[in-house]
Parts: sequence; structure tokens; C-alpha cells
Amino acid sequence: MFVGLLGFFIFGICLIFLIWAAAKKKLKRWWALGMLAGFILFIVGVSIDSSPSTADHNTPNTSIASNTPIKTTVTSTSITASSSASVTNTSDTLEVYYFDVGQGDAELLRIGDDTMLIDAGTNASTNALIADIKNLGITDIDYVVGTHPHEDHVGGMDAVISRFDIGTVLMPTITADTKTYKDVISAIDAKHLKITAPIPGSNITLGPVTCTILAPNSLKYDDLNNYSIVLCAVYGNESFLFTGDAEELSESEILAKGYNVDSDVLKVGHHGSNSSTTPDFLKVVSPTCAIIEVGAGNDYGHPAQATLDKLSATGATIYRTDLNGTIKLTSNGSTINISPSIITTSPAVTTSTSAPVTSITTTAAAVMTTTTASASKTTTTIVTTTTKTTTPTTTTATNSTLSLDIISVTSPVSAGSNATLTVRTSPGAQCNITVYYKSGASSASGLGSKTADSDGNVSWTWKVGAKTTAGTWKIVVSASINGQSITKNTTFTVE
Ligand SMILES: [Zn+2]
Repeated sequence: MFVGLLGFFIFGICLIFLIWAAAKKKLKRWWALGMLAGFILFIVGVSIDSSPSTADHNTPNTSIASNTPIKTTVTSTSITASSSASVTNTSDTLEVYYFDVGQGDAELLRIGDDTMLIDAGTNASTNALIADIKNLGITDIDYVVGTHPHEDHVGGMDAVISRFDIGTVLMPTITADTKTYKDVISAIDAKHLKITAPIPGSNITLGPVTCTILAPNSLKYDDLNNYSIVLCAVYGNESFLFTGDAEELSESEILAKGYNVDSDVLKVGHHGSNSSTTPDFLKVVSPTCAIIEVGAGNDYGHPAQATLDKLSATGATIYRTDLNGTIKLTSNGSTINISPSIITTSPAVTTSTSAPVTSITTTAAAVMTTTTASASKTTTTIVTTTTKTTTPTTTTATNSTLSLDIISVTSPVSAGSNATLTVRTSPGAQCNITVYYKSGASSASGLGSKTADSDGNVSWTWKVGAKTTAGTWKIVVSASINGQSITKNTTFTVE
């Protein structure tokens, strides 16, 4: 500012003297040169003044003190991305990353210069997550959303806040008495940031993408998961729903509020647990693509088979970070492209080797095209190319090239004898079986994960325990390949 004013001042003085000199026929040249110098200083001053200052950047433009109660009334506050990211994404392509952070959540949205990080994985996955974000050329994050204070969501958030330039931090108005949470608060304080409380119904704008906050809708919950910030990002005809760990109660509140949750892509709530994704909620969301952020061999049994079954029944294609690694979606507002396993540069902590990652990290690219007629989704086609499949498989599901047929099962079988189940699926598909008796899932040897042979055949033989209760029991078989999963149920009778 000062340089610009000084330049303007010199320019003005020299102009006056030039006119005076011209009138007196004196040394005009010097005054003309002074005028030129003043003009250059003026231009330089103006251009310095108009470039963004980093000091301003860290100040969130909409701040609500962290102890502000969550309003339950719908307001339409509009928060606009205030700053520019360091790397300019020149296209109008929205990129959505579902990072593989082991047993935890971390999603990133980027369009043009605008970025939003939803959750930051665990303490253990922090370095991998930061490397992944930096590898995208990102140094500034406009919005950091901590859905709720659990370690598997905000474990890496302190480091993210420390290492990147942050615009606004959104977190629900609930605290946790954990070191992880305190670390996040310390990082926020150290950067002189404030926590913005989520207001359901308010919008956050990321360029042409509108993110509407849908939850939490109550002031108090018994379960920390229900404080999860739920938001829906809409770009053109495509919509992406992010649910954190919101459970049944929060889902019902969202439906009761009448929010538009019909989405193309669902980040499945609470890692696919039984506590979320109620049939009512799923029916309204009606996703064509469901993404589960989950760690291989986690202690919680995520995702629940019942959730996988429900998602399959709605026709959604399921992608899982434990099977597919980091999943990247791109959209131009009318189509969505899916590329699992393409950007995982540094593997997140692996807790177990049960995930058949190697069979899936081949070059798989699925293209999901959603033809939209006015407001409603009409058609979805998925084209999958893979280097693994040697023979084309027949399509049974309407939106999937992966099939799974149960060919035979020994039934009835007497307790103490062997039973065999045979399925046919895509060659190379990773298959799992669970046999449920009255006492729960069987742990008999022979019921492990298997890879389909070149004809797509898989069979398991296991011993039915001598003390197994007689009755008809459920068997669940699943097959996964190239980011697609399919599940089939059958029963067999023990005598
Ligand atoms: Zn969680």
C-alpha cells in the first residue's frame, strides 16, 4: 500500500513540475523521467497490495466459538472458501479421495483451488496420510472437518493442522478426555485457529461444489458416534454423502428433518457396522456406490455382513479400503470415475494380512456413468477393465460384472461329518465363507479365505462339530475382485 501511494505521489509531483517546466521551457526531461519512475512505483505498489497475505489466510472467515450450542433450527449460513490452495487444479474436476488409513476414516475433496479434509485417520496412520496429501501437491486445506473426537477419525488431525495451512476447522461441540483430542485442541490453539460448530442446514462452498451439513441435529447424545458431522457434497448431478460414524439415531433425525440425502456415493457410516445404515436410511440414500473405510482384520468385526448384504441388495457397488486401498473418485458433475488402489504411495499401518490386497492392486479402472434425467437417477452402467480376468464372466447383477453362484452344498449332513460347499465366481476373485451355527460363526479349519481358480471355482470342506445343534443353518459366501464385491446366502441342514 505504502509503495503504491509513494509512487502515485512522486508521479503527481513530477507531472506538476513537468507542466511548470514546459511552460518555462526548462529541463523537461528530468521531470518526465521522475514521472515515469513514480508511475512504475505506483504499479508495483498496487500489484503488491492485491496479492493475498498469508496472515489473512489463517483467519477463518466464519467463526463460531467452540462452546456455541448447536442450533437445531435450519439456517442457511453460507461459508465460502476463502483462500487458494498452493497447487492450482485448473480443471473443473472434483476429486474425492477415501484414504486407506487402516481402521479409521479420512476423506479429501478437491476442486480447483478449494480443498476439504474430512477426518484424518488414526495416530498410527498420520505419516502415511500426510505423505498422501502432500503427494497431491496440497499445502493449504480450506476446511478440516473432524466428524467426532474418536481416535480413528482425529488421530492425525493435530499433525495435519500443524503441517498444512488451514482455513476453517469444523468440529462438533463435544469434547473427549483423551490425549488424542487434547493434541488436536493444542494444534488448533498453536495456529490461533478457532473451532467452527456445525449448523445443520448450512452450506460450505468449495468452488462449484455445495456441501450441506446434515447432522448432528441434537445437543446431547449418549454415544459419541452420533455427534458425527454428516455432510453431503453436491456437484452438478452427482452427490457424495459423508456420514462419519453416525448411527441409527442420527440417521433417523436426518430423515425426520427432510434433508435431501439421495446420493450417488455413500461413505458408509461407522465402518459398515450394524449400528448404522438402517434400511430406512439406505432406501432414501439409494447409493450406486458404497465406500467402506475399514481396516483389515480389525477388532470390531467391521464391516458387518448384514450391512454388506443390505448394500448389495440395493444394487450398490461396494468398495473397501481394506481390499482396494485408497479409493479415488473424480467427477465433472455429470459422471463419476472410480479408480481404487492408484494413489497409495505409502501403505498405512497394516494390522493384519487377511486382506487379499495383492490380487486387487492390479490395474483396475471402473467407470460409473450416471445418466441423469432432470433430478432423478435413472441408469447406471459400470465398465470394468482388468488385467486379471482371463475369461469373460456372465453378468447376473444389473450393475456388476462380478458373479457368484453357489453350485452345491452338502445337506443334510450329520454332526461329526464333513460338509463341502462349492461356488463359481470370477477367476482370481477372493472368496470368504462364514458358517453360522446356533453358537455363532464356526471357526472350523477349512473355512478360510480362498482365491478362485482359473475357471472361477472355489470349494471349502470343513468338519461339522460332533456337538453341533441339529437344525438348518445359514452360510454366507462373498467374492471380491477389482473393487467389486458380491455376497450370497444359503442354508444347510445338520442332523
Ligand atoms: Zn470410527
